[in-house]
Amino acid sequence: MTTRASRKQEFILPLGNEEIRVCVSAMRRKSMRLALTREGDVDLRIPLGCPKHEVLTFVRKHEAWLLEQRREFRQQNSQKQTGVFIRGRELPWEISALDEFLVTDQAVWVPPAWSQSERENALDAWLRAAAKTEYQRMIERWWPAFAGFSAQRPTLRVKKMRSRWGSLSQKGYINLNLALMQMPEHLLELVVVHELCHLKHFDHGPGFKQLMSTCLPDWRQREKELKDFSRLLRY
Ligand SMILES: [Zn+2]
Repeated sequence: MTTRASRKQEFILPLGNEEIRVCVSAMRRKSMRLALTREGDVDLRIPLGCPKHEVLTFVRKHEAWLLEQRREFRQQNSQKQTGVFIRGRELPWEISALDEFLVTDQAVWVPPAWSQSERENALDAWLRAAAKTEYQRMIERWWPAFAGFSAQRPTLRVKKMRSRWGSLSQKGYINLNLALMQMPEHLLELVVVHELCHLKHFDHGPGFKQLMSTCLPDWRQREKELKDFSRLLRY
């Protein structure tokens, strides 16, 4: 049996660009305490009779901390979310008031009447177009370091591949997975450099690893990140 008198109340707190549910429990205690629940709500405990303006001041003072907690919460829950990753950032689907498909830094905007498959087709086309430009740019950035190993710069092909991030063909193509467009740029860079290293070394032996280390000293760390990140992607 508890001797603590407790009264619960809820309110919605606008925070950054989202709204958070705050559950307030008034109880016999001296100070206020703030925590994030498993569900991502805010659990706030306050002393009995604590004036509302003091509560609000307390919450506002911890806004930065709350935002950080929420960011971590979202990251941990990203598999359950319904947004889409582009260049390593998860963006929500939003309904466009202008009735058009548009990708911005904040969201993927879609016309109100579109089905999920229409959204995904449009996104696919957008990702392909962006990938062609951005992958090509990455190849060109690194080409000077590899030009000595091959008479001709490999030709880019963007592909959806299930089991590989990239490959280099004998016929002079560098195939890169479309899904890399959803990753942070330094992971795209890892795959491009990996494939270009195959111009000199056909296997993954010591020579290959040495060349990778010369180009990207942190390539092993990036490989780990690539593995972790791929778990977040749905398509
Ligand atoms: Zn390889």
